[in-house]
Amino acid sequence: MSRILFDSVTKVYEGDILAVDEFDLEIEDGEFLTLVGPSGSGKSTLLRMVAGLEEITDGEVHIGDTVVNWLPPRNRDIAMVFQNYALYPHLKVRENMAFGLKRSTNLSAEEINARVEETAELMGIEELLDQKPKHLSGGQRQRVATGRAIVRNPAVFLFDEPLSNLDAKLRKHMRTELQRLQQELVTTTIYVTHDQEEAMTMSDRIAILNHGELQQVGSPREVYNKPENTFVAQFIGSPSMNMFVSELDRTGERPRFRGDVDVEISEREAETIAAQSDADQFLLGIRPEHIEVHETAVEGSVPATVDIIEPLGSNDLLYFDLEDGTGVDDVVADHVEIGEDEQSDEEEYKAFILPGSIPNSYERNDERVYLTLDTDHMHVFDPETGENVNKGWMATADAQAESAAEASD
Ligand code: ADP
Repeated sequence: MSRILFDSVTKVYEGDILAVDEFDLEIEDGEFLTLVGPSGSGKSTLLRMVAGLEEITDGEVHIGDTVVNWLPPRNRDIAMVFQNYALYPHLKVRENMAFGLKRSTNLSAEEINARVEETAELMGIEELLDQKPKHLSGGQRQRVATGRAIVRNPAVFLFDEPLSNLDAKLRKHMRTELQRLQQELVTTTIYVTHDQEEAMTMSDRIAILNHGELQQVGSPREVYNKPENTFVAQFIGSPSMNMFVSELDRTGERPRFRGDVDVEISEREAETIAAQSDADQFLLGIRPEHIEVHETAVEGSVPATVDIIEPLGSNDLLYFDLEDGTGVDDVVADHVEIGEDEQSDEEEYKAFILPGSIPNSYERNDERVYLTLDTDHMHVFDPETGENVNKGWMATADAQAESAAEASD
């Protein structure tokens, strides 16, 4: 068994720097778990504590049934791949790959050679075995570094931003390759990245960190569709979730939000929200794919002005402004984190549109458009706590079916 358990793990660096704060997480045997978060959120520190490269200040890390806090790295049965690949420059690829095996096993030279060649074949680097690292491209070095980890057949793989030094195209290719390898080898994996897209595409589950604290853990689909707070809502997904400010009004016949956007909600949704929060103003979160843009006013539409239209190929991205929009900064409490800086300053809203559905001349004229919001996919956040208080997905039959399907996955 090579599950990994973090039990209230804390790391304080010299100078009272709290890098990881009571982190709890269980990673299943064979699971691919990604730690994602902005720079400085504690991802590498967590990984290095599993590897034994960093002392654990408080709490326990278990690998399988063993508490590894005090075990030296070489006795932990882990293999780590670093961002800079950490290959020995004076050794050939073959020797680089064999190095760990020679040091940590009693295998004969023939057995080691056989394993190195088998792994090289798996990684598609057979022809490189007698080269030195300086003759290899970035992608090839990355493969060698991964091969060197795989050849040891460890209980756990630890990856620290292994694709950051590659160009965009190769990075996408290597993502798929690493994912395929991990599925083939079924080895418990912790993968660290600051890139939410990488996290979304590769992982069984994603753990999102901010300031050393776990924000949410779940499948890519869960964290995208059911963000538990404003930080996760805006960190996961690109372009990020729009946030509108509106007031809950329960005085009329039907409850509704009034403000940046004006939408009716069901009595049940209003109850759910009121049961969890006594705020008046809320942040309404809507992803760019859940806004429909019209050229003329339709029932319940919100007027907006076109800023720019960015062609993305299969979609265009429309940037728009609201007349008298309320900035998120004006209503959120100081301690509430949102996922992307750009969203906190100059408010800019985004919606996906079909190419050509809005005349191009619009962007030059500050033209007026009309938006309707798919409220089935609307999230409501309390600006005092940052918490998602309606878990928007609960409202619809569709979403309920999806949850049921997920639960039985
Ligand atoms: P991430 O991997 O998410 O970028 P890190 O784990 O590297 O984050 O860092 C988490 C926090 O700990 C940061 O505030 C960082 O400055 C601090 N930190 C990391 N390493 C050290 C160190 N050796 N000494 C002091 N502070 C450190």
